Amino acid sequence: MTHDDMKALEARIDARIDETLDFWIGQLGRLCAQPSISAQGVGIQECAELTATMLREQGFSAEILPTGGSPIVFGESAGKSNRTLLLYNHYDVQPPEPLELWETPPFTLTRVGDTLCARGVSDDKGPLITRMAAVAAVRDVLGELPLRVKYFVEGEEEVGSPNIPGAIDAYKDKFAADGCIWEFGSVDYSGRPEQTLGMRGLCYVELSVETAAMDCHSGLGGSLIPNAAWRLVWALNTIKGPDERIRIPGFYDNALPATARDMEYLAKQPDDAADLLETYGLKGFLLGKSGGVELRRMAVFEPSATINGLDSGYQGPGAKTVLPARASAKIDFRLVPDQTPEEIVPLLRAHLDAEGFEDVAVRYVAGVKPARTDPDDPFVQLSIQAAEDVYGLEPIVAPLIGGSGPLHPFIHVLGVPVVTSGCGYPHSRVHAPNENIRIPDFINGIRHTARIITRFAAM
Ligand SMILES: [Zn+2]
Repeated sequence: MTHDDMKALEARIDARIDETLDFWIGQLGRLCAQPSISAQGVGIQECAELTATMLREQGFSAEILPTGGSPIVFGESAGKSNRTLLLYNHYDVQPPEPLELWETPPFTLTRVGDTLCARGVSDDKGPLITRMAAVAAVRDVLGELPLRVKYFVEGEEEVGSPNIPGAIDAYKDKFAADGCIWEFGSVDYSGRPEQTLGMRGLCYVELSVETAAMDCHSGLGGSLIPNAAWRLVWALNTIKGPDERIRIPGFYDNALPATARDMEYLAKQPDDAADLLETYGLKGFLLGKSGGVELRRMAVFEPSATINGLDSGYQGPGAKTVLPARASAKIDFRLVPDQTPEEIVPLLRAHLDAEGFEDVAVRYVAGVKPARTDPDDPFVQLSIQAAEDVYGLEPIVAPLIGGSGPLHPFIHVLGVPVVTSGCGYPHSRVHAPNENIRIPDFINGIRHTARIITRFAAM
């Protein structure tokens, strides 16, 4: 297909997207009206069934695959070519609480001006509907899909996707594809689309120590009996110092540095240092950094150790002269490629033992491997160019973002390059009351996905 033919085709698809917009906003309302709160076990099976029904209504085969947790909805339709595009989304949402802060009912899609409000409208039911709308528009204009499309819609993303790596191992052939669009995509404050190519991993642990059978009067025990809170503080103090280096031997062995290509993309990202300082009321960043590309590199390419919470002794009103027998802390390590949570836990155990803290127990709570797509993959370049054509602005490419998701099995088990598209913006309030999207972003998300489909089929 010539460049002009492709442009003409895309114009017809855009027109079809405009014609069908109200229908798809209606479908978004239908999906948002079904609560699906994985953390509370509310409406999960019902929402899986609704998602499967909606896919079948669009001519897809759809099945509900059991996992150890929420089921996966798998949809598939053949196309003109056997090249296969996999669409990853999730039908579960965060709890709507606190309810009193919602200005509209959380499970009723409500239009306010140019925005659509409901729990899940941005994360992640809106992006799922943009894909269904794009697939339908392409099919309507061409008469058939130009490639095979598969939907992978899971129902426990908001609780860490614990069963997804196992499900991908189990159904590897079913999910096989040549490229994948990840669940989310946004524009930044200035309207530039963001293209995310990787996510950090996570190793979540709880440290605990017990020094006595029960708490003790501090006058009786303070000079005699070991104090669990001090033991924990001393143990924590060996993990990281004010230089921000993590002191667990071997911790950095598999941590890959940013490449020259990564640094190019980081250099082109907007500098949001001033916004961050203002938002969080900070005087400065760690290590005296003030902004620029080095701050952006540090933000994602340096692994971190974060104390999430500490618990010991008495913190109520007044004084309670007590010597605590127990203390615990929750810690997350954000990992960079190619670190793994499985390797960090024994390193941490060996480190605590070597430092004399055999009494401090380590409990592994959860983990996700980091993963990233090669920025030079042709599918990635296709998605970036398609975004630039739709939004009219150069996309912001993030080689890695600070958060974590079940990206690793997609890239390393299914072997697919992964790109992003979606309909979010900085005030989408994901996970918070009054979650919302803007209708122009919804339209652009559909258009971007439609261009990925047509261009990937022609690639
Ligand atoms: Zn979410």
